[in-house]
This record gives sequence, structure tokens and C-alpha cells, in this order.
Amino acid sequence: MPELPEVETVRRVLKKDIINLKINDIIIRYNGIIEDDINYFLDNVKNKTIVDMLRRGKYLIFKLNEGYMLSHLRMEGKYFYLPNDTLDNKHIHVIFILSNGYSLLYQDVRKFGKMSYKKDNELYDTHPLLDLGYDPILDLNPNYEDLYKNLLRKKSPIKTALLDQSVITGLGNIYVDEVLFESKINPERQANNISYDEFLSICNSSVSILTKAIENKGTTIRSYTSSLGVEGNYQNFLNVHTKNICPHCKNALVRVKINGRTTYYCKTCQR
Ligand SMILES: [Zn+2]
Repeated sequence: MPELPEVETVRRVLKKDIINLKINDIIIRYNGIIEDDINYFLDNVKNKTIVDMLRRGKYLIFKLNEGYMLSHLRMEGKYFYLPNDTLDNKHIHVIFILSNGYSLLYQDVRKFGKMSYKKDNELYDTHPLLDLGYDPILDLNPNYEDLYKNLLRKKSPIKTALLDQSVITGLGNIYVDEVLFESKINPERQANNISYDEFLSICNSSVSILTKAIENKGTTIRSYTSSLGVEGNYQNFLNVHTKNICPHCKNALVRVKINGRTTYYCKTCQR
């Protein structure tokens, strides 16, 4: 599943390719990708020009000359930017025909991805962006105390609380494991049992790990490969996720399911 670094990588590549291009037509083959009424989406996105590419959490934000198109890749969503009629397969569900003879193709084997249109005044004030917490790459001066209060309301393990996006946004299964390892926190601990200093450590680790992952264009593992010809390299820097031995103490790592998600951690180093 693409997490913040992989989505940020897609954003950067798309930004180079598609800025200032007009969307001349849209072909929607599977309506389930579009969260809006289909005609509302088409009426508002068609014939618009893409003026910028933004991101918040794991959402790609296509800034149009009027309004925004939000896109969440979920498990397997990928974009391809190619000359018209050079790629097609049964997993391509949405095609944006651009003004330069190229198309932006949205491929999604699992069909879990979502797109929607937001008016200029709606983007950050309505679901889903309204519900997102701290973005460790975008938000330089977060209100840590408010975020911590939000964390203390969670009645779940810290791993699950960090995956729900409302305290920190952008972390998924891989990077939560890495952040909790660097913060020396056991992922099975209850979220409302995390001290303020530990929470600050989680925030700082999120910044450093996500920054390094973005520099390496994200992680390429079995469950996620990027599109647009970008291969990530951060899998070479993972400390615990998918690993067997703790790189600090050399003890065997624990592998457990937390709320259904496979989790790796060190019982000695993470308390
Ligand atoms: Zn260890």
C-alpha cells in the first residue's frame, strides 16, 4: 500500500509531467472509483487545467484552475502518463485525455482507490482532508498538545491509533513499524498510555524516517510497486518491517498481528 513517501514520489513525478495541461476528456470504466455522482465529477473536472500537484497525508490533490480533484490510491492504485492509445488493460478504470496528445491512466487491480471533486472552499474543510491529523512533512509547527490530547482519546494499541490518520497522517503499515522502532515504543501498548515525551519522539521519528524515505523515492516491496517508471529504494533502509533480527541488540524480532496488520518489533529495544 502506498504510504506518504510513495504518494509524495508520485506527486513529484506527476507535477513535472502534467502541470498546465488541460483535461479534454475523461473516460470512467468503473464508477466505484468515483465517490461523487458521476455527472457531477465529469462536469467539474472535464475541461479544467491542472495548475498544481499537492499532497496531504496519502491523498494526491490535483489543483485545477477551479477546484481540486482528490485521489487516494488505497492498496494498488497507480498512474501512468503515456501517449494516447499506447497502454490499455482491464485494470485501467479511469482515463484522463490531456491536451498534449498524452493520457493519464489510472490503474487499480483491487479497485479500492477513490477520486472526488472538491470546490475551492471545500478542500480542507470537508471530509476526508478535514479528518486528517499532523502531516510530518507539510506541517512545520503543529500543535503537539492538541494532537497528544487526540491520541489520549484512542482506546487501541499505539500502532492502530497511528494507522487511523487522525493524529498523524501519512503512516501506513511499513512506516509505523519503523517509527515505533526508532522511538523505542512497543506497538502493542495502549495509545492512551503513551507519555507526552514519547509522543514527541514519535513525531520526530516520523519526520526523519519519512524525509529519508522520500529522498529514496519510497519503498518498493511485494505489495507496492510505483508507477511512472519510479522504483523506490527505501526497502534497503528498513530496520524491522519484514526483518528477522533486531539491528541494535541482534535478538529475534517479534512478528504479530495488531488489528489484523502484520507488525514487526523488538521486545528488548521497544518498551
Ligand atoms: Zn532490539
